[in-house]
Amino acid sequence: MPWCDSCDEYRAPTALDTEGKCVTCGSKVDIADVKAPAVKKAPWHFWVMVAALVIYLGYRLIQGIIWVVGKF
Ligand SMILES: [Zn+2]
Repeated sequence: MPWCDSCDEYRAPTALDTEGKCVTCGSKVDIADVKAPAVKKAPWHFWVMVAALVIYLGYRLIQGIIWVVGKF
């Protein structure tokens, strides 16, 4: 919940104007923790990284198997 220092009260995110200011006193409200509780969906570049990691580790695994087989 965003906290308004001027009113000394919590403000619901819907009780703020489009600029994130308190509709009662018009001062800037700390909205740092507004987005925190929401379960964020992983961004697309996260999955690109995961895919790259899986491909890389798969490649290293195959390399490792070839190395082990070569030892015999
Ligand atoms: Zn206020």
